[in-house]
Amino acid sequence: MCTPLFPDQYQAALGERLPEPVRIPLDQFGEFAESEEPNRNTHNNRELWVRAVPMPGGEGPQYVYSMVFITEHGVTVVDPGWPDRDEFRASIAQPLNDFLIQHGRSIQDVKAVIATHAHPDHLGAAGPLAQLANAKLVMSSREWTSIEQARGDHLANPDRFALTEENIGAPAGALNLDKLPGAEDAKGSRNATTRDRWFFPKLRPDVLLEDGDRLDQLDIPELSDLPWEVVITPGHTDGHMCLIDRAQRILIAADQIIPTIFPGIGLSVAPAPGNPIELYLDSLIRISEFDDYRVLSGHGYCFTDLPARIEETAQHVLRRAREVQNILSQNEKGEAVSVWSMASKMTWSAGWDGMVKSPRLLSGLRQTMMYRDLVQRVGLDKWERLFA
Ligand SMILES: [Zn+2]
Repeated sequence: MCTPLFPDQYQAALGERLPEPVRIPLDQFGEFAESEEPNRNTHNNRELWVRAVPMPGGEGPQYVYSMVFITEHGVTVVDPGWPDRDEFRASIAQPLNDFLIQHGRSIQDVKAVIATHAHPDHLGAAGPLAQLANAKLVMSSREWTSIEQARGDHLANPDRFALTEENIGAPAGALNLDKLPGAEDAKGSRNATTRDRWFFPKLRPDVLLEDGDRLDQLDIPELSDLPWEVVITPGHTDGHMCLIDRAQRILIAADQIIPTIFPGIGLSVAPAPGNPIELYLDSLIRISEFDDYRVLSGHGYCFTDLPARIEETAQHVLRRAREVQNILSQNEKGEAVSVWSMASKMTWSAGWDGMVKSPRLLSGLRQTMMYRDLVQRVGLDKWERLFA
């Protein structure tokens, strides 16, 4: 198990209470702090905060963690939260401003707003906040591509895991795709209302980041005190972005790894090439480089002992993959097994009977299709070796 960094935040997370903001201790370059070296001294007033922002009710996590980085030159906000419909000021801007005033700043000091990926709890308030504060809006170029695809601004990638009746192979009458929630999206509807989702930024981001970019080296004044490096971790969404601070050993992990739940996989706003499960497992390997970092996740609590959580998360994915592998190998004649019949043999928390009636059926079938592709096309050998 991973180790919580802040006992109070951890207790609040377990008790489903809203955690208080926590300040991440930054090493003020110990040996240099007393020295006269000017470059070092400029770092002395930096504050990195992790602030829980409540989300509109419903299933899933009750809040998202927003990172607030305060320096003498301004404020950077990562993942400002999910605004209540039409209530951006009351739900996001006002509480953020109150928080900043307690720390001698205000919302007008926000110079950059960074969104780690295109989900409403991370991206939803980013565009409006950047606009309100006249700040730079920043996200990964790969994630922006997904949004452009979803909007139909560019030729869409074919959806390899499209939920069509032929793909699923459901018995006649078992599945009325048109009547299920989310069916329009699932069929790749050209309907503008489903394409242009409310949480997409209205304007193109000011800065589109690539893997390996160091924000303070991009020659963009608003980013010049951000010692963060971009690590693109596809899987949860195709352009999901983590940020690392190598000197401080901090990983801003967003939804790549979460201490309390296992992140969903393949939740991009538009289809992308590749198998999201394969990409996600690769991304887990990628972040294992930061094994002794402090991890600031998008939900749950801040923690250390990243390798333990990587292992648990990978095993959760591999358990599912092995289940699919077993079902496929039991098929003696080597016949093609339909996604529907495979899904009916898998374990679901609500049981298959419950799943058939659940709004989660479509995503369950889609997951099954992705796992089948992983097992048949890629195989599990590589992962079984890496995650023993
Ligand atoms: Zn997400």
